[in-house]
Amino acid sequence: MQFKFLGTAASEGIPNPFCACKVCTHAREVLGVERRTRASAIIDGQVQIDMSPEWSYQLEREHMTARDIHTVLFTHTHPDHFNVGEFVSRCENFGYDIKEPLHVYGNDCAIKGAFNALDNLGGDRFILQVVAPYMSFENKGYKFTAVLANHARMELCYNYLIEKDGKTIFYGLDSGFHPESTFEFLKGKKIDLAILECTYATYIQGNKTNNHLNFESLFNEVSILRDMKVLDATSKVYASHVSHSSKMTHSEIEKLLKEQNINLAYDGLNLEV
Ligand SMILES: [Zn+2]
Ligand SMILES: [Zn+2]
Ligand SMILES: [Zn+2]
Repeated sequence: MQFKFLGTAASEGIPNPFCACKVCTHAREVLGVERRTRASAIIDGQVQIDMSPEWSYQLEREHMTARDIHTVLFTHTHPDHFNVGEFVSRCENFGYDIKEPLHVYGNDCAIKGAFNALDNLGGDRFILQVVAPYMSFENKGYKFTAVLANHARMELCYNYLIEKDGKTIFYGLDSGFHPESTFEFLKGKKIDLAILECTYATYIQGNKTNNHLNFESLFNEVSILRDMKVLDATSKVYASHVSHSSKMTHSEIEKLLKEQNINLAYDGLNLEV
Protein backbone atom coordinates (compact mmCIF):
# COMPACT_ATOMS: atom_id res chain seq x y z
CA MET A 1 0.00 0.00 0.00
CA GLN A 2 1.05 3.60 -0.60
CA PHE A 3 0.22 5.73 2.42
CA LYS A 4 0.24 9.50 1.99
CA PHE A 5 -0.09 12.11 4.72
CA LEU A 6 -2.28 14.82 3.20
CA GLY A 7 -2.21 16.84 6.43
CA THR A 8 -0.40 16.41 9.74
CA ALA A 9 -1.56 19.24 12.02
CA ALA A 10 -3.76 19.26 15.09
CA SER A 11 -6.97 21.28 14.96
CA GLU A 12 -5.39 24.78 14.84
CA GLY A 13 -3.08 24.03 11.90
CA ILE A 14 0.48 25.35 11.80
CA PRO A 15 0.54 28.27 11.53
CA ASN A 16 -2.62 28.95 13.49
CA PRO A 17 -3.89 32.16 11.82
CA PHE A 18 -4.70 33.68 15.22
CA CYS A 19 -1.32 32.90 16.75
CA ALA A 20 2.05 34.64 16.90
CA CYS A 21 3.98 32.03 18.89
CA LYS A 22 7.50 31.01 17.96
CA VAL A 23 6.35 27.91 16.05
CA CYS A 24 3.66 29.70 14.01
CA THR A 25 5.97 32.65 13.22
CA HIS A 26 8.75 30.28 12.17
CA ALA A 27 6.31 28.31 9.97
CA ARG A 28 5.22 31.51 8.20
CA GLU A 29 8.86 32.37 7.49
CA VAL A 30 10.27 29.06 6.31
CA LEU A 31 7.16 27.16 5.07
CA GLY A 32 8.20 23.65 3.91
CA VAL A 33 7.75 20.92 6.54
CA GLU A 34 7.05 23.54 9.22
CA ARG A 35 3.72 24.39 7.61
CA ARG A 36 1.02 21.82 8.41
CA THR A 37 -2.57 21.49 7.25
CA ARG A 38 -5.15 19.59 9.31
CA ALA A 39 -4.83 15.80 9.54
CA SER A 40 -6.06 13.52 6.78
CA ALA A 41 -4.50 10.69 4.80
CA ILE A 42 -5.02 8.67 1.65
CA ILE A 43 -4.02 5.10 0.79
CA ASP A 44 -3.31 4.13 -2.84
CA GLY A 45 -5.31 7.17 -3.96
CA GLN A 46 -8.39 5.02 -3.12
CA VAL A 47 -9.02 5.00 0.62
CA GLN A 48 -9.51 8.39 2.27
CA ILE A 49 -9.13 8.62 6.05
CA ASP A 50 -10.88 11.70 7.44
CA MET A 51 -11.48 14.87 5.41
CA SER A 52 -9.79 17.97 6.75
CA PRO A 53 -10.90 21.57 6.09
CA GLU A 54 -8.07 21.78 3.50
CA TRP A 55 -8.91 18.42 1.90
CA SER A 56 -9.53 19.58 -1.69
CA TYR A 57 -6.46 21.86 -1.56
CA GLN A 58 -4.37 18.96 -0.20
CA LEU A 59 -5.30 16.77 -3.19
CA GLU A 60 -4.48 19.62 -5.59
CA ARG A 61 -1.14 20.19 -3.86
CA GLU A 62 -0.30 16.50 -4.36
CA HIS A 63 -1.44 16.58 -8.00
CA MET A 64 -4.19 14.11 -7.14
CA THR A 65 -7.94 13.92 -7.66
CA ALA A 66 -10.67 12.23 -5.63
CA ARG A 67 -11.89 10.26 -8.64
CA ASP A 68 -10.36 6.93 -7.57
CA ILE A 69 -11.47 7.19 -3.94
CA HIS A 70 -13.98 4.38 -3.28
CA THR A 71 -13.83 4.36 0.53
CA VAL A 72 -13.92 7.08 3.18
CA LEU A 73 -13.27 6.20 6.82
CA PHE A 74 -14.15 8.75 9.48
CA THR A 75 -12.47 8.55 12.88
CA HIS A 76 -14.86 11.04 14.52
CA THR A 77 -16.67 14.28 13.81
CA HIS A 78 -14.42 17.01 15.23
CA PRO A 79 -14.28 19.72 12.54
CA ASP A 80 -10.55 19.22 11.79
CA HIS A 81 -11.41 15.66 10.59
CA PHE A 82 -14.96 15.96 9.32
CA ASN A 83 -15.24 18.32 6.38
CA VAL A 84 -18.26 16.42 5.16
CA GLY A 85 -19.73 19.32 3.18
CA GLU A 86 -17.30 18.29 0.42
CA PHE A 87 -19.60 15.34 -0.35
CA VAL A 88 -22.05 17.68 -2.07
CA SER A 89 -19.41 18.13 -4.81
CA ARG A 90 -19.92 14.44 -5.67
CA CYS A 91 -23.70 14.72 -6.08
CA GLU A 92 -25.66 14.81 -9.33
CA ASN A 93 -25.29 18.20 -11.11
CA PHE A 94 -22.28 19.06 -8.91
CA GLY A 95 -19.83 16.37 -10.11
CA TYR A 96 -19.97 14.80 -13.58
CA ASP A 97 -19.07 11.40 -15.07
CA ILE A 98 -19.25 9.61 -11.70
CA LYS A 99 -20.31 5.97 -12.03
CA GLU A 100 -19.50 4.20 -8.78
CA PRO A 101 -20.95 4.89 -5.33
CA LEU A 102 -18.63 6.14 -2.59
CA HIS A 103 -18.62 3.90 0.49
CA VAL A 104 -18.51 5.94 3.70
CA TYR A 105 -17.89 4.35 7.09
CA GLY A 106 -17.84 5.78 10.58
CA ASN A 107 -19.63 5.99 13.92
CA ASP A 108 -23.29 6.98 14.11
CA CYS A 109 -22.47 10.71 14.51
CA ALA A 110 -20.33 10.65 11.34
CA ILE A 111 -22.87 8.77 9.26
CA LYS A 112 -25.77 10.95 10.43
CA GLY A 113 -23.58 14.01 9.77
CA ALA A 114 -22.83 12.82 6.25
CA PHE A 115 -26.52 12.08 5.65
CA ASN A 116 -27.52 15.56 6.85
CA ALA A 117 -24.80 17.29 4.79
CA LEU A 118 -26.03 15.53 1.64
CA ASP A 119 -29.52 16.95 2.23
CA ASN A 120 -31.18 14.36 -0.08
CA LEU A 121 -28.80 15.19 -2.94
CA GLY A 122 -26.79 11.97 -2.62
CA GLY A 123 -28.99 9.75 -4.79
CA ASP A 124 -27.16 6.48 -5.51
CA ARG A 125 -23.71 8.05 -5.29
CA PHE A 126 -23.12 7.26 -1.62
CA ILE A 127 -23.41 4.17 0.55
CA LEU A 128 -23.33 5.28 4.17
CA GLN A 129 -22.59 2.65 6.77
CA VAL A 130 -22.34 2.86 10.56
CA VAL A 131 -19.67 0.46 11.82
CA ALA A 132 -19.24 -1.09 15.25
CA PRO A 133 -15.93 -1.27 17.10
CA TYR A 134 -13.80 -4.40 16.61
CA MET A 135 -15.94 -5.74 13.72
CA SER A 136 -14.17 -5.98 10.36
CA PHE A 137 -15.62 -5.05 7.01
CA GLU A 138 -14.26 -5.21 3.48
CA ASN A 139 -14.43 -3.12 0.34
CA LYS A 140 -12.54 -3.44 -2.98
CA GLY A 141 -9.90 -5.81 -1.59
CA TYR A 142 -9.20 -3.85 1.61
CA LYS A 143 -10.12 -5.10 5.06
CA PHE A 144 -10.94 -2.47 7.68
CA THR A 145 -11.50 -2.70 11.42
CA ALA A 146 -12.56 0.18 13.64
CA VAL A 147 -11.05 0.08 17.12
CA LEU A 148 -12.00 2.32 20.02
CA ALA A 149 -9.95 5.40 20.81
CA ASN A 150 -10.14 7.36 24.07
CA HIS A 151 -10.80 10.78 22.61
CA ALA A 152 -14.13 12.62 22.89
CA ARG A 153 -16.91 12.62 25.46
CA MET A 154 -19.86 13.00 23.10
CA GLU A 155 -19.15 10.17 20.66
CA LEU A 156 -17.27 6.88 20.37
CA CYS A 157 -14.13 7.75 18.40
CA TYR A 158 -12.52 5.18 16.12
CA ASN A 159 -9.05 4.38 14.92
CA TYR A 160 -8.64 1.97 12.02
CA LEU A 161 -6.68 -1.10 11.05
CA ILE A 162 -6.36 -1.28 7.27
CA GLU A 163 -5.17 -4.57 5.79
CA LYS A 164 -4.24 -5.49 2.23
CA ASP A 165 -1.76 -7.88 0.57
CA GLY A 166 -0.55 -9.19 3.95
CA LYS A 167 0.29 -5.72 5.27
CA THR A 168 -1.40 -3.78 8.07
CA ILE A 169 -1.62 -0.04 8.69
CA PHE A 170 -2.90 1.34 11.99
CA TYR A 171 -4.35 4.86 11.79
CA GLY A 172 -4.44 6.21 15.34
CA LEU A 173 -5.62 9.85 15.18
CA ASP A 174 -7.16 11.15 17.47
CA SER A 175 -6.68 8.58 20.19
CA GLY A 176 -5.61 9.56 23.68
CA PHE A 177 -4.14 6.59 25.51
CA HIS A 178 -6.07 3.68 24.01
CA PRO A 179 -8.56 1.76 26.15
CA GLU A 180 -7.64 -1.70 27.39
CA SER A 181 -10.11 -3.25 24.91
CA THR A 182 -8.03 -1.93 21.99
CA PHE A 183 -4.76 -3.28 23.39
CA GLU A 184 -6.59 -6.62 23.91
CA PHE A 185 -7.82 -6.56 20.32
CA LEU A 186 -4.32 -5.88 18.99
CA LYS A 187 -2.82 -8.88 20.83
CA GLY A 188 -1.29 -11.30 18.33
CA LYS A 189 -1.53 -8.82 15.46
CA LYS A 190 1.43 -7.28 13.61
CA ILE A 191 1.32 -3.66 12.45
CA ASP A 192 3.62 -2.65 9.59
CA LEU A 193 2.91 1.08 9.78
CA ALA A 194 1.49 2.78 12.87
CA ILE A 195 0.34 6.40 12.72
CA LEU A 196 0.04 7.76 16.24
CA GLU A 197 -0.51 11.22 17.62
CA CYS A 198 1.60 13.59 19.73
CA THR A 199 -0.89 16.44 20.02
CA TYR A 200 -0.12 17.67 23.53
CA ALA A 201 3.55 17.66 22.61
CA THR A 202 4.76 18.06 26.17
CA TYR A 203 5.58 15.80 29.08
CA ILE A 204 2.87 17.06 31.43
CA GLN A 205 -0.18 15.04 32.53
CA GLY A 206 1.49 11.63 32.71
CA ASN A 207 1.87 8.59 30.51
CA LYS A 208 -1.80 7.60 30.04
CA THR A 209 -3.43 10.82 28.86
CA ASN A 210 -7.09 11.01 27.89
CA ASN A 211 -8.28 12.84 24.76
CA HIS A 212 -4.81 13.17 23.18
CA LEU A 213 -1.33 11.75 23.60
CA ASN A 214 1.59 13.82 24.85
CA PHE A 215 5.18 12.72 24.23
CA GLU A 216 5.26 10.64 27.40
CA SER A 217 2.00 8.78 26.67
CA LEU A 218 3.04 8.32 23.01
CA PHE A 219 6.31 6.72 24.13
CA ASN A 220 4.37 4.57 26.61
CA GLU A 221 1.96 3.37 23.88
CA VAL A 222 4.80 2.53 21.52
CA SER A 223 6.72 0.71 24.22
CA ILE A 224 3.64 -1.38 25.15
CA LEU A 225 2.97 -2.22 21.48
CA ARG A 226 6.65 -3.20 21.05
CA ASP A 227 6.54 -5.39 24.18
CA MET A 228 3.40 -7.04 22.77
CA LYS A 229 5.29 -7.61 19.46
CA VAL A 230 2.43 -5.78 17.68
CA LEU A 231 5.28 -3.51 16.57
CA ASP A 232 8.56 -5.24 15.72
CA ALA A 233 11.90 -4.19 14.25
CA THR A 234 10.40 -4.01 10.74
CA SER A 235 7.44 -1.82 11.78
CA LYS A 236 7.47 1.88 11.01
CA VAL A 237 6.03 4.30 13.57
CA TYR A 238 5.11 7.87 12.61
CA ALA A 239 3.75 10.62 14.84
CA SER A 240 1.29 13.12 13.38
CA HIS A 241 -1.52 15.53 14.48
CA VAL A 242 1.21 17.96 15.50
CA SER A 243 0.44 21.09 17.50
CA HIS A 244 2.27 24.38 17.97
CA SER A 245 1.67 23.83 21.71
CA SER A 246 5.00 22.01 21.91
CA LYS A 247 6.81 25.31 21.20
CA MET A 248 9.09 23.10 19.09
CA THR A 249 9.89 23.17 15.38
CA HIS A 250 9.72 20.13 13.11
CA SER A 251 13.43 19.36 13.48
CA GLU A 252 13.31 19.76 17.27
CA ILE A 253 10.37 17.34 17.61
CA GLU A 254 11.97 15.00 15.08
CA LYS A 255 15.15 14.83 17.15
CA LEU A 256 13.22 14.02 20.34
CA LEU A 257 11.14 11.29 18.65
CA LYS A 258 14.18 9.73 16.96
CA GLU A 259 15.56 8.79 20.39
CA GLN A 260 12.52 6.46 20.68
CA ASN A 261 12.83 5.28 17.06
CA ILE A 262 9.66 7.17 16.10
CA ASN A 263 9.48 9.27 12.93
CA LEU A 264 7.73 12.59 12.53
CA ALA A 265 5.25 12.98 9.66
CA TYR A 266 4.96 16.04 7.45
CA ASP A 267 2.45 17.13 4.84
CA GLY A 268 2.85 15.24 1.56
CA LEU A 269 5.05 12.46 2.99
CA ASN A 270 4.49 9.22 1.08
CA LEU A 271 5.28 5.82 2.61
CA GLU A 272 5.41 2.40 0.94
CA VAL A 273 3.96 -0.35 3.16
ZN1 LIG B 1 -8.00 16.22 15.53
ZN1 LIG C 1 1.28 29.26 17.44
ZN1 LIG D 1 -10.61 15.17 17.66
